Amino acid sequence: MTGAGAGLPGLAEAGAALAAEAARFASFGWMRGTSGNLSVVTGREPLRLAVTASALDKGELTAADVVLIDGDGAAVAGGRPSAEAALHARVARLTGAGAVVHVHTVASVAMARRRPGGIVLKDLEMLKGLGLPADGPEVVLPVIGNSQDMRVLGDRLAAAREPRMPAVVVAGHGLYAWGADPREARHRTEIVEWLLELELLQGPGPAGGR
Ligand SMILES: [Zn+2]
Repeated sequence: MTGAGAGLPGLAEAGAALAAEAARFASFGWMRGTSGNLSVVTGREPLRLAVTASALDKGELTAADVVLIDGDGAAVAGGRPSAEAALHARVARLTGAGAVVHVHTVASVAMARRRPGGIVLKDLEMLKGLGLPADGPEVVLPVIGNSQDMRVLGDRLAAAREPRMPAVVVAGHGLYAWGADPREARHRTEIVEWLLELELLQGPGPAGGR
């Protein structure tokens, strides 16, 4: 199968890329059990995404362990998509991203408890990894309430999204981050997670609170 547009991967290529990315995130402890899911856009009109299949160990995925979904998160080919596939499609529609990462990290859940109104970031060299100035004005990493209804969760994400910040934390759940391709989405995920771990280590003091 070939990609549906210039530069977009076919399903087999997407599956191989997502398996490699998932193994990496699993090695970090960010996809424990069978948690988390990853996607890459394989077509734009109509929107198609390859998403990691549900209920599999993310450290053991093969190139075949992907499901092709449409813009609403419904399976077009392959097995059963992750429950959160619809949110991946929503993020791709909303942001124009070519790849979406969803991981269940301890730091994201802990920081959402501490800063339910959003996590303020400022004066950090690592912000440059998100395309932001290290010494610019503060930027907020949004925190949204969790839901089992992907439409509700998508509406919350759309409403809370900060255009300069390619990530959103879901309270009691984990982190979504996105980029032009799996590599950029991975780099952004790693940087946002670094920022969350830093804020967590700093304790519940007044700085950065909302
Ligand atoms: Zn999740």
